[in-house]
Amino acid sequence: MGEHLFSHTYSYGVMTPPRTVAVVGFKDSGKTRVVEALVKELTIRGHKVGTIKHTAENIGFDTPGKDTSRHREAGSKATAILHNNAGALFIDEHISIHDTAKMLGSLDFLVIEGFKSVNTHARVLVPRMDDDIDKLRNGLEIAVVKVPESGFTGKSDLPVIDLGDASKLADIVMEQGYPMLPGVDCHGCGYDDCRNLGEAILRGEAEARQCVVNTISFVLKVNDESVPLGGFVRRALSNMLLGFVKSLKGGEKASKIEIVFEVEEDE
Ligand code: SF4
Repeated sequence: MGEHLFSHTYSYGVMTPPRTVAVVGFKDSGKTRVVEALVKELTIRGHKVGTIKHTAENIGFDTPGKDTSRHREAGSKATAILHNNAGALFIDEHISIHDTAKMLGSLDFLVIEGFKSVNTHARVLVPRMDDDIDKLRNGLEIAVVKVPESGFTGKSDLPVIDLGDASKLADIVMEQGYPMLPGVDCHGCGYDDCRNLGEAILRGEAEARQCVVNTISFVLKVNDESVPLGGFVRRALSNMLLGFVKSLKGGEKASKIEIVFEVEEDE
């Protein structure tokens, strides 16, 4: 549904998508402290960093009685409040993490807190105890952070980093973080799904730009005029056409596809 509101306006377009990492763990594991440490360190290094935080609770976000709250109560589905050097958006419908990432604009790094079930980017684990590690793994983990008060003993086959060593954590994120994949699982990159391409990227066998959905340039022209397409429509049409063309003899290595047809006008 977020597509209806945003995808026609916000697109990666010519922007380079930020390298993305999620900090995942169970409740009260110390994820926010890890995000803080990582964001500070990347910022000190001169990078522009954005964050997205997941919450399971619908906490309202707005202050009852304030102007924006009144706009929303009146029926506004997308409300913005803007100041000269800050702003906030209230969106009263589901927005995907992928559309949200695009709305954050041009960034070097995107650090996500939570979203354990999303398989489109690298992740840093924050266990409360040793058992948590297996529960949090999905093949895209690049490090484990040991928070001092946790019951995690520090035993893992992954790189284990103390919370106080943000520099080491940032080094790993800078080395292994890759742009978030779209989560469309279309096989266009030659892998079964986005997670499999992500695993290949972490093994050094593939690159994020192999994702045809993130990199494809799709233009629809009618009578030589470009027609603006929403992100969902653009992805759906490009996936369908690419899948069809690649299945044809000679189409396996398609890099540019042009389809031109003339429509007969009604008498
Ligand atoms: S082409 Fe992109 S969207 Fe499709 S499966 Fe590969 S990574 Fe996912």
